[in-house]
Amino acid sequence: MSAEVLTSDEKLGLERIRRLSRLAGAPWLAFPLSFVLSVVALSLRRFSPGVTLALGALAVALAVGSVIVGIVSSIRYHAVRCPRCDQQFLQLPGSRFGFLWPTKACRKCGLSLKLLR
Ligand SMILES: [Zn+2]
Repeated sequence: MSAEVLTSDEKLGLERIRRLSRLAGAPWLAFPLSFVLSVVALSLRRFSPGVTLALGALAVALAVGSVIVGIVSSIRYHAVRCPRCDQQFLQLPGSRFGFLWPTKACRKCGLSLKLLR
């Protein structure tokens, strides 16, 4: 069993794909945190209206910011090209809509994100 060797360009390309994939999921982490901040802010409204306002503004900024980061990263993630074969990393061969399904390996040449370990 031989280990596949990555060139430095392939490694950088795969790291970029993994980073974009994680950023595209930013709302999944930020929305629950924003919800918790909102609940804490509302529970403090009788004792400290200023803190409630600040936490509420932080919750809204966190939610809106994560949506913007998620949308931009998702668009870039779905258009990303494979660092080895220069084809779209996520696109199914022969399918115009294949880019909608994320994958851990290039659909054309099989270059896998698992090689980054
Ligand atoms: Zn490829």
